[in-house]
Amino acid sequence: MSTTTLNAAQGQHTQSMFEAVLARLDAAAKIMNLSEEVSTVLKNPAKQVKVSLPVMMDNGSLKIFNGYRTIHSTHLGPSKGGIRYAMDVNADEVMALAAWMSFKCAVVNLPYGGAKGGIKLDPRAHSVGELERISRAYAVAMKDVFGVNKDIPAPDMGTSGREMAWILDEFNKITATDSPGVITGKPVAVGGSLGREAATGRGVMINTLCALKKLGLKPENVTAVVQGFGNVGSHAARLLAEKGVKIVGIGDHSASYYNEKGIDVAAAIDFASKHNRNLKGFTGATEIKNEELLISKCDVLVPAALQNVITIENAPKIQAKLIVEGANGPTMPEADPILNEKKIICVPDILANSGGVTVSYFEWVQNKASYYWSEEEVNQKHDIKMEEAFENVWANSTEYKVSMRLGAYITALKKLEQGVRLKGHY
Ligand code: GLU
Repeated sequence: MSTTTLNAAQGQHTQSMFEAVLARLDAAAKIMNLSEEVSTVLKNPAKQVKVSLPVMMDNGSLKIFNGYRTIHSTHLGPSKGGIRYAMDVNADEVMALAAWMSFKCAVVNLPYGGAKGGIKLDPRAHSVGELERISRAYAVAMKDVFGVNKDIPAPDMGTSGREMAWILDEFNKITATDSPGVITGKPVAVGGSLGREAATGRGVMINTLCALKKLGLKPENVTAVVQGFGNVGSHAARLLAEKGVKIVGIGDHSASYYNEKGIDVAAAIDFASKHNRNLKGFTGATEIKNEELLISKCDVLVPAALQNVITIENAPKIQAKLIVEGANGPTMPEADPILNEKKIICVPDILANSGGVTVSYFEWVQNKASYYWSEEEVNQKHDIKMEEAFENVWANSTEYKVSMRLGAYITALKKLEQGVRLKGHY
């Protein structure tokens, strides 16, 4: 199946993300001999909801926003997955991200299915008041979809604990309950978990350490480049630096920087926090072009920003020996064979960035028990889960002699296959 079509008018490649997911599912299914029936079930998301949200802007005008929620599967438990606010949100993207959540939860062995939601908007173009009204309108529109044992959202690109608190409050008001576990990634004061904010970056760090061990490399002898300096990238860079990895490159949408002597990550985080969360203007390294960051000299590359950034054009020029995917879908399927040929180990998104949903699960468990754990306990449980997941994926990729990406899909599909089979059908 072709996942890329050439948009002749613009001479650009356009990509169906969901088709890209299906292509990888097919590849893994073939290798592990997954039954046609199970594969068909998993290729068709269980539920897709699209809503129009009319919201008053600060200037008195009314604007309609498109909101989405796709539940891909509930075979292993209630569906779980974030809500993103971005201009490229559409039905196809949400469907792909929802399927990835099913695979991600299965890889880490969480009792969850997969879902994803989103609103098409540019969060930087709205006031806090507008964002609050849009978030509350979305919660109202999704009140029959969300539920503590049904579908549990969380933050994703363009959202954070702030939006989760608004959505929780609105949901509680309309359902006349107090149900903190209906959403995760909340601020700690309203039922969030210690360690949740840094969890995705922490998972990236643990996966990097596990992979370095397999490669026989010590963290203090390797360099890393991190693309993206939001919640995932900044925590990943900070935690890797704490483990001795020399961070030589960082970048976000505003600017990219390189310093072969190493970048002071704490100083970069401090700079971004004082400059509207942008790195532009940082003086601790030399500014380079954004497109140079991924191909600059380093041992470990962490794409932690957007999807589809590793392409057939730049993959041949990547110098890293290890890629750890902090973002969802940063590597285009066409680039995978190039990375494999270059013997670059790629820890795939559904494993590498699963730290976030893992601690979301811990948050949900704490909410259900109304008993809260220390940050140390959360981190310890997280690290154990992540190391187990890494070893399972590594074992499957070794057994089937495939890349870690296919190994991760095989790990997930083995689990999902049991869920689909045991729960049966009509
Ligand atoms: N949005 C995050 C992800 O893609 C977290 C999901 C969650 O915590 O439910 O994994």
